[in-house]
Amino acid sequence: MAIDPVVPAVQPNIQSQTTENVLALFALPFNDLLHKAHEVYRRHWDVNTVQLSTLLSIKTGNCVEDCKYCAQSRHYSTSIEITPLMETEDVRAAARQAKAAGASRLCMGAAWRALQNRNLEKIMSIIRNVKEEGLEACATLGSLTAAQATSLKNSGLDYYNHNIDTSEEYYSKIISTRPFSERLRSLQNAHAAGLKVCSGGIIGIGESRTDRAAMLASLARLQPPPESVPLNMFVPIPGTPLADVERVKPLELVRTVAVTRLLMPGAQVRLSAGRTDLSDEAQALCFFAGANSLFYGDRLLTTDNPVEKKDWVLFAELGLRPGPIEKRTTSYEERRGDAT
Ligand code: SF4
Repeated sequence: MAIDPVVPAVQPNIQSQTTENVLALFALPFNDLLHKAHEVYRRHWDVNTVQLSTLLSIKTGNCVEDCKYCAQSRHYSTSIEITPLMETEDVRAAARQAKAAGASRLCMGAAWRALQNRNLEKIMSIIRNVKEEGLEACATLGSLTAAQATSLKNSGLDYYNHNIDTSEEYYSKIISTRPFSERLRSLQNAHAAGLKVCSGGIIGIGESRTDRAAMLASLARLQPPPESVPLNMFVPIPGTPLADVERVKPLELVRTVAVTRLLMPGAQVRLSAGRTDLSDEAQALCFFAGANSLFYGDRLLTTDNPVEKKDWVLFAELGLRPGPIEKRTTSYEERRGDAT
């Protein structure tokens, strides 16, 4: 006789989220996990809308950090073209173009270890210009002090992105030049200044499922948890130490999306790098599992992304409406209670 598997509850107290709890979710039969995640997703969001963010590299390459996956690190020999900080007007033109193509947010990335105060005024001017174009503005500029976070907030920035990348345990095998704790401090500074936080990680950089679970538990324990969680399928870059790393199957990404949705029901969960390697069917499963945002436009910081036309065909097939996504619940307490 078939027995229904016991579906573990997500801990109502997010602070008590442990790697073991999260691993138990990963271990659920696939259909049970997706069913549970989709139910939570449907309670919190309009499941037929998807938010589109366009990513723009505003300063590329020559980064002093040694992130082993990254084409922009100066520690590795890659074919990346190094470019200085873009001019404000050029970023504004890119924002206009992104909006015309259907994006609602421009995410601007600079390959810096940390935002330097000498660049702050120009970054603030860039943000003001992007906002004037009617887009949400997100920036990823490296480590951030509390004062800088306040300045960015005052210039109109909506989101600050700083990924934790992986579990705290695996992190030191990937990055030696910046401690995990510094990442968490930057996220705290962003939140304290009133910025929304975008923070996620990478799947397929040689980490185990336990590392993936630990990474998600770390994000869910943040107070408050990130408003946006980008999940990247790793794209190996020739010339970097991880060029030959074993690839992770797309179904593991689907599971990761579902677990993320269960742990952080009120977050935007974004399909980020690696979509060119995903079939339409794998992406459809991700949307069902709770992904409600994606990077849109044929180029990410250093890797390819599906061309816009291809995405629109997929949206039409799935009945997905690109646009601002509607949250059904408002308070964090409400969302947390619903996730049990
Ligand atoms: S991921 Fe960011 S911080 Fe790390 S090397 Fe690349 S650009 Fe620098």
